[in-house]
Amino acid sequence: MFERDETIFTDEDVLREDYQPAKLEERDEELESFKAYLQPVINGKQPRNIFLYGKTGVGKTAATRYLLDHLKTDAKQYEDLSITSIYCNCEDLTSSYQVAVELVNRLRSPEDRISTTGYPLNEVYAKLYDEIEAVGGTVLIILDEVDQIGTNDSILYQLPRARANGYLDQAKIGIIGISNDFKFRDSLDPRVEDTLCEREIHFSPYDATDLQAILTRRAELAFHPDVLNSEVIPLCAAFAAQDRGSARQALDLLFESGDLARRNNTERVAEDDVREARRQLEKRQIEQSLVDLTTHGHLTLFAVAFRAKMDKTPARKDAIYTQYQSIADHLEHDPLSDRSVHAHLNELTMLGILDRLEFNEGRAGGIYYKYRLSVDLDTVQSALAEVPTLEGANI
Ligand code: ADP
Ligand code: MG
Repeated sequence: MFERDETIFTDEDVLREDYQPAKLEERDEELESFKAYLQPVINGKQPRNIFLYGKTGVGKTAATRYLLDHLKTDAKQYEDLSITSIYCNCEDLTSSYQVAVELVNRLRSPEDRISTTGYPLNEVYAKLYDEIEAVGGTVLIILDEVDQIGTNDSILYQLPRARANGYLDQAKIGIIGISNDFKFRDSLDPRVEDTLCEREIHFSPYDATDLQAILTRRAELAFHPDVLNSEVIPLCAAFAAQDRGSARQALDLLFESGDLARRNNTERVAEDDVREARRQLEKRQIEQSLVDLTTHGHLTLFAVAFRAKMDKTPARKDAIYTQYQSIADHLEHDPLSDRSVHAHLNELTMLGILDRLEFNEGRAGGIYYKYRLSVDLDTVQSALAEVPTLEGANI
């Protein structure tokens, strides 16, 4: 039944999320600053705390892994240096408590791990300082997706000050915080912000040229020679640049395009494969987002899609609310207040399903917003059609 395929990919793993490229393209400036901020570590001095921010898929995690690898390799030439780094993704850790427990357990051997509940927070911090002290030298703690810990952020205050507060003596710690959420930094307590964001680097979205360079390099390792039609990479780069400027998105699109060609048993990847792959990825992304929305989130999206179908978008929130009310009535759901629906519009915008356009009427009207679908109407329709609570509703 199974047979190895050998026409399209030489190594598709190269296009996957966890592949670490040997070199990062188009990030010279960011890497230069990042490297300079890490210089005290090589000098055996107290590390700076560094904060990286930018949207998803713009190379923050890759840049951190890349530089830390080099840092650790290059540190080997100095006998007086001992560098330990602990990488912690906060994605599933929604409080300081959970992050602290995770860090303790990372530093302990498996049989000494502590459970994730049952200790007072201070005790967990004390254990953490003990472990860090025991490791000694320079300890770099990378808190990726740090915004996920939300407002329960005491660890961001505790850790950077552990040395100043006398909890650490031997060990020098440095925090590298990474966030996809621009608002997170502003929401921090000013004291936390001063210490945690001592040095900052912003990663901007990639443009189509950047993405072409990234994809070209990666494609050389992933595909057999001459398998990609010449328009494939530029098209993947252009689509991803138009959307979020994310390298991850561009790489996913390139992989899906190749995968389609493979499934269709063609020998080359063509422009049509990219377009079809884009539709499929978009649909999957919307379906994924819809799973996390409440019924009223679905109804709000339904209302915007309904207006889009009638060519009545972009639309202001009041118009969308009226539409929403009649749809909710029709489907026998009690409508929510306009404020709640407004919150759903914001959420849908954040998820990348809606666009929010700003209009400025000057003094007379002030600033207001209009919303429209940021994804294909057909795709939204087919995704909504699969939502059980909307059964029987047709756009
Ligand atoms: P972020 O952490 O900002 O969300 P990642 O670092 O995970 O983004 O990057 C997403 C994907 O794109 C990874 O597979 C990464 O290897 C790749 N990537 C991002 N930036 C570059 C770059 N400048 N050069 C090569 N590959 C990159
Ligand atoms: Mg990341």
